[in-house]
Amino acid sequence: MLINSLIELDRAHLVHPVSSYRNHETSGVRVLRSAKGATLTDASGHQLLDGFAGLWCVNAGYGQDSIVEAATRQLRELPYATGYFGLGSEPAIRLAARLAELAPGDLNHVYFTLGGSDAIDSTIRFIRYYHHAEGLPQKDQFISVEQGYHGSSTAGSGLTALPAFHVGFGVPYNWQHKIPSHYAYRNPVGSHPQAIIDASVAALRAKIAELGADRIAAFYIEPIQGSGGVLVPPPSWLKSMHAVCKENDILFVADEVITGFGRVGPFFACEEDDVVPDFMTTAKGLTSGYVPMGAVFMSDRVYDTIADGAGKMAIGHGYTYSAHPVSAAVGLACLDLYENGLLENGRKAGRRLMEGLRSLADHPLVGDVRGRGMLAAIELVTDKHRKTPLPAQADPARRIFDRAWDNGLVIRAFAQGVLGYAPPLCCTNDDIDGIIERTRMTLDQTL
Ligand code: PLP
Repeated sequence: MLINSLIELDRAHLVHPVSSYRNHETSGVRVLRSAKGATLTDASGHQLLDGFAGLWCVNAGYGQDSIVEAATRQLRELPYATGYFGLGSEPAIRLAARLAELAPGDLNHVYFTLGGSDAIDSTIRFIRYYHHAEGLPQKDQFISVEQGYHGSSTAGSGLTALPAFHVGFGVPYNWQHKIPSHYAYRNPVGSHPQAIIDASVAALRAKIAELGADRIAAFYIEPIQGSGGVLVPPPSWLKSMHAVCKENDILFVADEVITGFGRVGPFFACEEDDVVPDFMTTAKGLTSGYVPMGAVFMSDRVYDTIADGAGKMAIGHGYTYSAHPVSAAVGLACLDLYENGLLENGRKAGRRLMEGLRSLADHPLVGDVRGRGMLAAIELVTDKHRKTPLPAQADPARRIFDRAWDNGLVIRAFAQGVLGYAPPLCCTNDDIDGIIERTRMTLDQTL
C-alpha cells in the first residue's frame, strides 16, 4: 500500500533526471529503501548487488560509518559557512590542501562546486577569463570528443556529444566542436592502438587547422569515456592528445568526474598516462555520493594568470554552496578510506571484475568486453562477426535492465546495447562473482 502510494506521488510530482517522462509515468518508480556495502534493498525487500555504484559515484560503498560520523559531527558543529567575504571553514581548507597534494603535477588550486556539471561549467568560465587575462579574448572556441559526456549545464551540454542532450533544446552550440571518438570496437580505422592514436591526432590537428589555433580555448577529454559506453582509449592516447594541445597553446581539460578517486586504479586516471592537464574536473567519488560536491583543479600557471588578470577586482564566479563544510567533511572521510585500503581493494576487485567479464566473451550475445579497474562494459550484438547491434526498436536496454533487476543486479544498460559496470570499490570477491553470475543469467534469458 505504502509503495503504491509512493509510486502515485512520484508519478504526479517528481520530475526525474534524464528520463522519458511519459515512459516513466507508465513504468512507475522503483523505490530504494536502504543499502550496505555493495547491496541495495528496495521498498519490497528485494536485495540487489549495485553493479553501478548508484550513478558511478558511491566509490566507498554504502553504510560507511566514518563518513556518516564525519557528516554528523560537521552538521552539529558548523552546518554552513560561505566562502564569500574571505570566510572559510576548516574542512574545506583541509580538503583543498589534501586534494592538491594528491593531484598530478602542479594542479595546486581547487575550486569546489556541487557536482560535475557545474564543475565543467566553471572551467568554461575560468578558461574564458584566463584567455581574456592573457590578452587573447578571441580564443573562444572549445573542442571535445564524440560520445563524450561533460554534464548537462547550458554551456557544458554543448561539450557533451550525446544526441539526447541536444535534441529539442534549441540551444545554439556554435562554439563547441567535436572530433571522432577513439571507440576501438567500431572505429573505421580498426582496433590497432597506434592506428587509433594516429587517427585521433590527425582529427585534432585537422580541427585546429579548420578553426585556427589562435581561436581555440580548450580541448576536453574523459580519460575513459563513461556515458558514451565506457570507451577506453589505447595507452598513450591521452599523452598524444595533450602534446598536440601544448604545441598549439590550447588548454587541456581532463574530465575525471567518473575516473577520479580510484575508479580505474590510481587516484586519478591521468596519472597512468603521466599527463598533467591544465584543468581537472572531479565529483562523484570525491564524496562517494553521500552528499553533493565537485572540484575543479587548476594549475599554478592558470591560477596565477586568472588572479593577476583580475588584480583587485572580484572574479564573479561562485555559488552559495561552494566549499560546503559538510560536503568537505565527507570528502575528507572518503580520502581517509581510499588511503587506508579502499583504493587497494578496488584494484583487486577490478582485476576480478575484468577477468569475470572476459569470461563472458564466449557468450553468443557478447561482442566486446572493455574496461579498466572498476569501470567496464560489455557490448551486446546479435551477430558477432558483423558486430550487428541489438535492434533499437525493441528497447533492449530497458528489457535487460529489468531482467537484471529481477535477478538481483543493478547495471547500467545503455541504449545502444552496452551494459556498464562501476561497482563500489569495497566489493568483496563474492560481490564481484555475484555480479558476473547474475549478468550471465540475464544474458541467457535475453537470448
Ligand atoms: N562529466 C562526466 C565525465 C560525467 O560522467 C558526469 C556525470 O555523469 C558529469 C561530468 C556531470 O556530473 P553531474 O551529474 O554531477 O552534474
